[in-house]
Amino acid sequence: MDISSVIRKYLFHFQAEFNNLIKYLLFKQKFDFFSIPRKLQIELTNICSANCIFCAYQYQTRPKGYMKENLFQSIIQDFVTMGGKNIILTPLVGEPLLHPKISEFITFARKQGIEMVRISTNMIAPKINLKQLITSGVTEILVSTAGFQQKIYERTYRTGKYSIMLKNTSELLRLNKEFGFPTQVTIAFRSPIGRKSNFKHEDFKKYIKPYVGGGNILTFAEIYDNWGGLINQSDLIGRMLISPSKIKYRWPCKFVFRGNISYDGIVRVCGCRFNNNPDYDEMVIGKISSKRTFKDIWFSNRRIHFLNRFLLGKLPSVCKNCTMYEIS
Ligand code: SF4
Ligand code: SF4
Repeated sequence: MDISSVIRKYLFHFQAEFNNLIKYLLFKQKFDFFSIPRKLQIELTNICSANCIFCAYQYQTRPKGYMKENLFQSIIQDFVTMGGKNIILTPLVGEPLLHPKISEFITFARKQGIEMVRISTNMIAPKINLKQLITSGVTEILVSTAGFQQKIYERTYRTGKYSIMLKNTSELLRLNKEFGFPTQVTIAFRSPIGRKSNFKHEDFKKYIKPYVGGGNILTFAEIYDNWGGLINQSDLIGRMLISPSKIKYRWPCKFVFRGNISYDGIVRVCGCRFNNNPDYDEMVIGKISSKRTFKDIWFSNRRIHFLNRFLLGKLPSVCKNCTMYEIS
């Protein structure tokens, strides 16, 4: 293991712990149970076209499916009525571009008054119309990739669809540049090798580098969270490092202030992590139906009870083990 990466990991970790402590001390009197979601995370599908070594998709036991159009529209209308402005189409796990209507959904949301639409994607979506996506009103696209060397990619994302990912990613960057950057595209490297090594690969130099700049940017991750205990250091390869566990204060994690809705209308307290043990259901606080809106569930006693568990120090097991815990 690279010693400089380990030092960076602990520096990063102590910085995060310090930030949490300061925010806890500063903000602990200012807790509003009844604020609207800062962002609403909507899962269009929980089906993925990859199977990354660092992701809990491999352990998912939920039935798979796609969100229906009338459900999406009612969620957006409800959220806008509450005063919501920001949505994230990043699923708990899954690939949003596999949803055949994603661009129409985004355009609908923007027309209803949504100001920010972020998606995270692996770009393995053979049927996606990239021109339609870029001009749909989407404001941020985060492309998750292990880089642009086929063997490394296939080892990390465990899919044989490298060429689709490369073609789509290059075309996305090209179109964004050609149209004057209507959206921000971030190429987020989740790679077992360092950035300098990534820059040397021929496919990077030929298909990606020419379009970097302006609204097309690159980021690199070295530290990975543990998905509430499902992912361990032994699952990772090369320079990838698992994050150490974090201290949990008697204060809610920032992710419970985001609404989260699964493709089937189930509302969860946190859309970041699951661990499939019997406590999994503790994160579910309701299901949208003709009689029960997202707003009803968001302000329900069940959600308030869940937030109280943080204040009482009685966390569900997925939170106890989660390395994503953050105060904001
Ligand atoms: S592409 Fe995303 S959802 Fe799919 S396995 Fe990888 S990290 Fe998980
Ligand atoms: S601690 Fe982890 S699982 Fe719990 S609310 Fe925060 S991000 Fe979600």
